[in-house]
Amino acid sequence: MLIVAAALLVLSGCGQKTQPGTSQPPAIVSGSEASASYTVAASELKNPENKPVYLCPMHRDQVSLNPEARCSICRMRLVPQEESK
Ligand SMILES: [Zn+2]
Repeated sequence: MLIVAAALLVLSGCGQKTQPGTSQPPAIVSGSEASASYTVAASELKNPENKPVYLCPMHRDQVSLNPEARCSICRMRLVPQEESK
C-alpha cells in the first residue's frame, strides 16, 4: 500500500509540474493600448510651457501634449494643432 501511495504522489506531483504559466494567456492582450494616454478637454489641458498641442481631428476639443496619445472619445490618433488649421 505504501508503494501505491507513493506512486500516486509522484503522479500527482508530475501533473502539477507542467510548466506553470506557459498555457496562461497574457493578462492584457492589447499592451500598447493599456499604456496609451488619452486626451482631455481643451479647457482642462495644463500647458504652462506652451508646448505643441495635439488634438483629435474629429473632436477638436480633445487635446493632449503627448503625440502618442489618443482621443478619449473615438481612440483616433491625434494630429498637431498647427496642421489641423
Ligand atoms: Zn475623437
